[in-house]
Amino acid sequence: MYPNYIKNLLQIEDVIVKKVSHGLFNTTFIMLETKPKAHTCPKCSNLTSRIHDYRLQKIKHVPFGINSSILILKKRRYACSCGKRFYENYSWLPRYQRMTRHLIMYICHQLRETVSYTHVAKQANVSIFTVIRTFNRINYPKPSKLPEVLCIDEFRGNAETGKFQCILVNGAKNHQSVIDILPDRKQSHLCEYFLSIPRKDRLKTKFFIMDMWEPYRDIAKTFFPNAQIIVDKYHFVRQVSWAIDRIRRRLQKTMPTKLRKYYKNSKRLLLGRYDNLNDEKRQQCDLMLLYNDDLRKAHYLKEWFYRICKESRYSVVRNEFTNWIKNAESSGIKDFEDVAATFRRWYKEILNAFKYKYTNGPTEGYNNKIKVLKRVSYGINNFERFRNRILHTCG
Ligand SMILES: [Zn+2]
Repeated sequence: MYPNYIKNLLQIEDVIVKKVSHGLFNTTFIMLETKPKAHTCPKCSNLTSRIHDYRLQKIKHVPFGINSSILILKKRRYACSCGKRFYENYSWLPRYQRMTRHLIMYICHQLRETVSYTHVAKQANVSIFTVIRTFNRINYPKPSKLPEVLCIDEFRGNAETGKFQCILVNGAKNHQSVIDILPDRKQSHLCEYFLSIPRKDRLKTKFFIMDMWEPYRDIAKTFFPNAQIIVDKYHFVRQVSWAIDRIRRRLQKTMPTKLRKYYKNSKRLLLGRYDNLNDEKRQQCDLMLLYNDDLRKAHYLKEWFYRICKESRYSVVRNEFTNWIKNAESSGIKDFEDVAATFRRWYKEILNAFKYKYTNGPTEGYNNKIKVLKRVSYGINNFERFRNRILHTCG
């Protein structure tokens, strides 16, 4: 009975547990052997049951709690009448490996978390090289088709292939995952990549979510003719808050030191939503705005824009947004004229953000995870491995 329990614990079939002992450093040793049976000769394919000799081999297995486990397998060697001698093979032990399939699975499973190779090595009681070698056997192929909701973004990976890497994400609710990581965001490479996906599959992409980067829009128009192009909300809202902040910083330079410090430390009052401030903070904000006409105008435009963003009726948004652009254009403030010009260039794509409510939010989440992965992997010195790690963790 007892050895059977251990067999269940090991989850290894067709073995006989002979002995369990505990060694130093929390190591459990388990002696195993198998029942002899006829084997097919790898040279002549005849069956043979003639035992030649035995050898003991140490094999690493998944740890039990804090104890690492080592199997000591009595390996049997057979001899065939053709002269060939060969070891028996085991379904749970890959050829030429000193660790069980279970341990390999365990390592791969651990690597799904955003942890370092060193951490996994410690957990699995193997060397860091074993962890990397094991992971190198995993390869995520390029996806054969793309999702209906395709998000594109970049992150600074500083890989050997380029400063920025491109990330493709399935943005459909409940199906969020990283689809692929591209070595750079050069337009020629992106074209090549999307061209290799059959046109009939590309036609199925209905939404293409991106930041305000011109090459992405060109790509979307060329390769995804059926997709609505959407600019991520965060990226266009931030244009407005950047504009008012530029004005604040410019004004500060003309202020005496004390006042300059006050404006610097209180910038949140200008940048945040007025509605969210309490009475005291509102009064503070009002006082700050008294300093300069442009700042007051900028604040008015910013608040107006924030209100538009909160509006749920699309027809209202469209009218208000159009009015807002006109007002910003004639505001006489360079920073807002620039924002208005940008918004005109991206008019349709910004309105689409209100119409369809997709954002690059899922991608931002993955980008944060990638940052952690980058830190625990000591950077991306090997792009392919890093790509596989991201897909393994975020796929
Ligand atoms: Zn043979």
